[in-house]
Amino acid sequence: MIYLDHNATTPVDPAVAEKMAWFLRERFGNPSSLYPIGREVKELMNEARERVAKALGVDRGEIFFTGSGTESDNFAIFGTFDAAPDRNEFVTSAIEHPAVIESAKALEKRGIKVTYVPVDRYGTIDLDHLRSALTPKTGLVSVMHANNEIGTIQPVAEVARIAREKGIPVHTDAVQSFGKIDVDARRLGVDFLTVSAHKIYGPKGVGALYIRRGSTICPFVHGGHQERGLRAGTENTAGIIGFGEAARVMEEKGKKERARIEKLAERLKKGIEQKIPGAKFNGHPENRVGNTLNFAFPGLEAEAILLALATKEIYVSTGSACSEESEEVSHVLRAIGLRPEIARSSIRMSLGRSNAEADIEVVLKELPEIIAKLRAISAFHPEG
Ligand code: PLP
Repeated sequence: MIYLDHNATTPVDPAVAEKMAWFLRERFGNPSSLYPIGREVKELMNEARERVAKALGVDRGEIFFTGSGTESDNFAIFGTFDAAPDRNEFVTSAIEHPAVIESAKALEKRGIKVTYVPVDRYGTIDLDHLRSALTPKTGLVSVMHANNEIGTIQPVAEVARIAREKGIPVHTDAVQSFGKIDVDARRLGVDFLTVSAHKIYGPKGVGALYIRRGSTICPFVHGGHQERGLRAGTENTAGIIGFGEAARVMEEKGKKERARIEKLAERLKKGIEQKIPGAKFNGHPENRVGNTLNFAFPGLEAEAILLALATKEIYVSTGSACSEESEEVSHVLRAIGLRPEIARSSIRMSLGRSNAEADIEVVLKELPEIIAKLRAISAFHPEG
C-alpha cells in the first residue's frame, strides 16, 4: 500500500501505540480521584500536557484537552462569543476547514454577522480586506495556519498583530501545520490555537486548544471540574497519553524527517509536471506545507482517478475527508478561483512518515498511465 493521504489522518506511531497499550493495561484510575491510582494517571496526563505545550512553545497551564480538532475550533469560537455578548461580528477566511465554516454558519443563525475574507489564487488571505472587516463589534478573528486541501500557509502572525491592535482576540486552526512546520503559539501572537493528535501520528478522538493565559472564554462542556472547569467530562486518558507521546516523537524526529518528506513531495511534484501534460498545480508554489500537493487534471473526474489509483493500492484524496461524501465542489478550490469542472478534476496527495522514495517512483509510473487511459476514454478531454 502507498498511503498519500496523511492530511486526512496519519498511522499511529509504534511508540504511541506501545505507550497507549501499556497505559490501558496498567493504569485505569480516574485522574480526578485523590488516591494514588488516580494521582498516577493525573501525573501522566500532566506529562502529556507538558509535551504538547512544549511543542507549541507555551506553558502547560495553557493547554486544554478536547475530543478533536473540530471540538477545539468550536470551543474557541462559541466560548469566545458566549463570553462577550456585546460583540456580534465574526471574521474568518473563505477557505477554513468545515469545523470553522460550519461554526460560522451556526453563529449566523444566532444573528452574528460573519465576514468570509477572500483569498488570492494561491489561497493567501487578503489582509486589506481583513483589516477593513474589523470593527469594535468584532468578537473574534479565526484564520487557519495551513490549509488542509492545498497546504497554503497564512500570515497568521500578521493577522494577529492587526486584530490585537484593535483589541480583538484571534484564533488559528493549526491542525494541518502542527508537525509540518514550526508552530509557536507565542510567536504567532494568537489567543487560541487548535491542534489534533491524529494528524501527528497520535490517536483519533483527542485534540487540544491552547488558551493564552488571561484570555476570556466560557466553558464549552458543562459538568465537572475537568480541564479546569472549561471542558467537563472524564478525560480520554489513553488518548491524551498517546497525544503526549506523539508530540514527544515529533520533537525527537523533528526537522530531519520533515525535510525528507518535503524532498519526496518535491520529487513527486516535478515528476507529475514532467510526465503529465496539462496537469495543473493548485496552491502556493512555495508558501505551503511541503508535504501537500494538489493537482487538477482538466477534463477528468477526480473520483475516477482516485478509484483507479486505489486499485493499485495507492490512496489519495479528492479534498478534505469531510467533503468527500458530498457532491459539493471544494469551497477551497472555488475560493482560489477554479472553475467547478477544474475543481472536480483535482486530487490531493499528502505525504508523511510512511512514505519512502520507492513509493514516489511507483506513483510516477502508475499515475501517468492512469491519466492517459482515462483521457483516452473521456470524450470531454480538451487534448483528445
Ligand atoms: N482543522 C483542519 C484544518 C483539519 O484538516 C481537520 C481535519 O481534517 C480538522 C480541523 C478537524 O480535526 P479532527 O479530525 O480532529 O476533528
